[in-house]
Amino acid sequence: MEPSNNLLRLRKRLESKAGKAIADYHMIEDGDTVLVCISGGKDSYTLLSLLMALRERAPVSFRLIAMNLDQKQPGFPADVLPHYLANIGVEYRIVERDTYSVVKSKIPEGKTTCSLCSRLRRGIIYRTAKEIGANKIALGHHRDDIVHTLFLNLFFAGQLKAMPPKLVTDDGAHVVIRPLAYCGETDIARFARAMDYPIIPCNLCGSQDNLQRQKIREMMADWDRRYPGRTESVFSALQKIVPSHLADQTLFDFKDLRPGAALTSMAGGDSVFDPQPLGDDCSLLQPIPLQVWR
Ligand code: SF4
Repeated sequence: MEPSNNLLRLRKRLESKAGKAIADYHMIEDGDTVLVCISGGKDSYTLLSLLMALRERAPVSFRLIAMNLDQKQPGFPADVLPHYLANIGVEYRIVERDTYSVVKSKIPEGKTTCSLCSRLRRGIIYRTAKEIGANKIALGHHRDDIVHTLFLNLFFAGQLKAMPPKLVTDDGAHVVIRPLAYCGETDIARFARAMDYPIIPCNLCGSQDNLQRQKIREMMADWDRRYPGRTESVFSALQKIVPSHLADQTLFDFKDLRPGAALTSMAGGDSVFDPQPLGDDCSLLQPIPLQVWR
């Protein structure tokens, strides 16, 4: 069946945003081997599809290896991903580890198991990357995940910290990349529905979604309903940090600030009494420049 114009437009928009994120953060370089983590959810299917499409016209050459970790949750449909991945012709590995039994034996009944489960999963992913010689690990977190993490840390950990588009693993061995960092969840969900991916539910382990994260999701959904574009605006703020207008003494030298300091050290001076540059000046309304990756 021919894809509809709507689906083609949506794919183009997602590819364009993923391509821009990859270019902006130098996520993928010539000769890289990228391990793409596939959970069977909408985000990871979309990630793989976009990376495969972008590889066709990328200015660099790189290898993609899809990986699924079968955590032995009851009812996990183990044949779905091998069948799907073989069908689309991507190189892949299925890694089987019974982390389900481990978390069940360590976490008391009724408590959320996600944090231990994620730690175990992370270790297995890093080891797999090492075994197969992948220097990059691609995860399917998107713009909304990044914004939700910002608010989680802000409200519950007292830190101004989100989820970076690119980071080096604790052992220094790999670079983790999030090519969907500019892609909105609504677009991804629409794309995944239109692509009819064989989605594997993420609640097979019986664990409840983290309650605090759930609250943040509801808060952002409510804000976005009442003030469309708010999630984009918050994400955009993450790319325009002004240390001189926050209060972290390790990021800005407040102690040595004296009369006559160069205006550049104050990132534009004190505009506290000036009108805020919103509305037509909002940078969100500016077209995104073309990049070679798109
Ligand atoms: S929902 Fe289940 S599989 Fe997913 S992270 Fe939590 S414990 Fe692990």
